[in-house]
Amino acid sequence: MHGVAAPRCGPFASTSATDMRVLTLAGGTGAAKLIRGLATCMPQRDLTVIGNTGDDTEVWGLRVSPDLDTVMYALAGMLDVERGWGLAGETFNCLAAMATHGADTWFNLGDRDLATHLTRTRALDDGQSLATVTARLAGNLGVAACILPMSDEPVRTMIRIPGGRLTFQEYFVREKALVEVVGVDYEGAATARPAPGVIEAIRTADVIVVCPSNPVTSVGPILAVPGIVEALRSTAAPVVGVSPIVGGAAVSGPAAALMRVRGLAVSPLGVAAAYAPWLRRLLIDERDQACAPELARAGVEADPADIIMTTRAHETALARRILELSAERRAR
Ligand code: GDP
Repeated sequence: MHGVAAPRCGPFASTSATDMRVLTLAGGTGAAKLIRGLATCMPQRDLTVIGNTGDDTEVWGLRVSPDLDTVMYALAGMLDVERGWGLAGETFNCLAAMATHGADTWFNLGDRDLATHLTRTRALDDGQSLATVTARLAGNLGVAACILPMSDEPVRTMIRIPGGRLTFQEYFVREKALVEVVGVDYEGAATARPAPGVIEAIRTADVIVVCPSNPVTSVGPILAVPGIVEALRSTAAPVVGVSPIVGGAAVSGPAAALMRVRGLAVSPLGVAAAYAPWLRRLLIDERDQACAPELARAGVEADPADIIMTTRAHETALARRILELSAERRAR
């Protein structure tokens, strides 16, 4: 018997009159830091995360949702902070044993992490939805925030390279993002539906935060699910982003190269263009202040801030700043 409760997470399971209901659009490592910061400034139950599933993959027959799990482990206080993925204090004995048997081992699955993927795979094979099992996994780890996959249906980010295509994980983990990219597609997105609760969470949020995530391969797949952009366009809530680009480069990872492929400038302007016309405000690094007038012309208010999160204190300070700015905006 392993079916526990139905998802406890509705759009917002409960909220008090004074708390803001905060919705985040999230990828993995960059998002996890900001979300962990938000969770120190507000009750988790008022926080909803719409997570990217374009990176989802299958390893040894197991269904792996790297971005959902990174956010879940971060909110559970279990994330390996140094690596930015997986569980703290993890061991990799199973991985080593699989290598003995000749299995592919370029995707690092930790021993305790396997429990997440085994539980997810069994539930999906039993016909449960990804949203249901995601809520159950998060609940089992004591996470009170609501983590929603963008869709229950498969959407796969495919990286086009000269002469072929790679899944996102083949590109990012196996090839270490070192290959030339000629395009990015979100396979399955056109016919995918937002997971139950996603559109309602956008409609009922007091603040929407676009995490500092890769605009092409983390937030892009979320936006490719029909209905999500329309909901973002029609919300009255402030929509605030944090730039993953600082001083003309990504803080980490391949965002810059992928933005170029999409014809986006590698600057806060490119980030704003990726989220036009619904992004209202963008937190940018002080050294990108020169972009502010052009952002304003594009309808995006720029807020210079310390947006590189290298410590827990940075995460909290940035989260607090976002909540303060949003509260001001709501009060206007
Ligand atoms: P992934 O799925 O693991 O690639 O995770 P995300 O897409 O959430 O995060 C990667 C993106 O976040 C990259 O584009 C980074 O430039 C950005 N990023 C990572 N850490 C930080 C940070 O501390 N501050 C800011 N502003 N961006 C960050």
